[in-house]
Amino acid sequence: MKIYYIISVFMIVIGLSILVTGSMLIPVNDNAKENAKAPENSPVIDNDWGLERVDFIHYVKPENAGNSRKTSTCYKLMGVKWKSLPVNYSINPVNPQGLSENFITSTIFTSAEIWDSSTSSELFDNDYAIDYSATYGVQDFKNSIDFADYPNDGVIAVTSVWYTRVGKQIVEFDQRYNTRFAWGDATIDSSKMDLENIAVHELGHAVGLADIYSTSCLDVTMYGYSTEGETSKITLEQPDITGLQTMYGI
Ligand SMILES: [Zn+2]
Repeated sequence: MKIYYIISVFMIVIGLSILVTGSMLIPVNDNAKENAKAPENSPVIDNDWGLERVDFIHYVKPENAGNSRKTSTCYKLMGVKWKSLPVNYSINPVNPQGLSENFITSTIFTSAEIWDSSTSSELFDNDYAIDYSATYGVQDFKNSIDFADYPNDGVIAVTSVWYTRVGKQIVEFDQRYNTRFAWGDATIDSSKMDLENIAVHELGHAVGLADIYSTSCLDVTMYGYSTEGETSKITLEQPDITGLQTMYGI
């Protein structure tokens, strides 16, 4: 008797669920649901859009990376971009190397403005936040830049980008500069990993440019390898600018 009672109650509950939600009568297509909410032109972010994450890890240049020059095809778009501009960001200047807050913030700001000045869009905010709680890798819709140990001697920096699967809208980026490297201004001390050089590259990821690894593209800012003393990525090359302007306008 008892088992029939349980089954009956179960059937009633299922029946009521169908009546109330209709979900078992009309299958909900996830894509259709997401498309209905496509954030194409909306600055409002909703987790139902299906956030995806991609990490760009910037490695030390290998010995055999070659020596040829850039060509016009030396850029690659991630296929996602910001649709709500300008992009603001928070810098956590805490570091174990005694780098000053002013050096870090002014260098990153200058790096962001290098991209900004190469497109008609107001790409990056004209100001930034100094935030001692900003932490890389936390998906919180805050664009956080920090300096900390990344457990790999070959990794200079990493940028993570979150975007919506539908609408292909970037909604967040975070960056970590690996303190296993000695950061500084390589135009003064070429033994340092130049912060501006790497920041310009990493901020290229933040706006939707992917790494370029072709040895025929060594000179572009988005070339995927660097070394201490390198400063060539500070200046954008034409392929970097073309990629940027394809997304954000001439
Ligand atoms: Zn990269």
